[in-house]
Amino acid sequence: MPHKLLIANWKANPESPEEARALFEAENNPGVIICPPAVYLEELHANGAQDVFWEGGAHTGEVSPEMLKELGVTHVLVGHSERRAIGETDEQINQKLKALLNAGMTPVLLIGEPEKSAARSDYLIDQLTRDLEGVSADGAAKIMFCYEPVWAIGTHAANLDDVVSAIHEMQSILDKMYGFKPSMLYGGSVNEKNLADFLNHPEISGAVVGGASLKAEEFKNMIEIATKL
Ligand code: PEP
Repeated sequence: MPHKLLIANWKANPESPEEARALFEAENNPGVIICPPAVYLEELHANGAQDVFWEGGAHTGEVSPEMLKELGVTHVLVGHSERRAIGETDEQINQKLKALLNAGMTPVLLIGEPEKSAARSDYLIDQLTRDLEGVSADGAAKIMFCYEPVWAIGTHAANLDDVVSAIHEMQSILDKMYGFKPSMLYGGSVNEKNLADFLNHPEISGAVVGGASLKAEEFKNMIEIATKL
């Protein structure tokens, strides 16, 4: 079982249940969280989901934490930049975090600045404080935090020094808010070539993987790399 966590974010892929089944069979492994599109969750018995709504009831098109939990989902991505880009607000992210914590599930909160800019600190402070508003220290300790700079998604990974410095900033923000400094995941163009560089760092507890998680052979290699560390 890999010591460091790999989280596969398939986004809106693949197009057919057959392909989803084949990809899942290739990638399913202890210590790996696979987040397929919601329509495949039941058949695959996957442990991860890409999004959630904060309650059941009169919310057309939404899926509640309890529904995901019933299917065996343990981890849910919250605040992905692709969702923020289509209008998901910090207030909604905050409600999702609280709902998942209430349901006893693990939110994976994605935080990162949109451009490679000097304003990084402002984004990190802003997102963390708004997203976590009213979340207790006990609750925050159950959240997995991921630094995922938007400019590094689907392009070129951020360099390790920048990632570590962003993680230190996030840790010091959380330390001020809650008095603890959790280790963090990194996301953004992680692949079989750069994975070890990130995972070898003691403060990086794992990686969120998009594009490379759709390539069964590459992702299997990544699981092997994570397992050997
Ligand atoms: C993501 O969008 O969460 C992600 C990490 O994507 P990619 O690995 O393709 O950059």
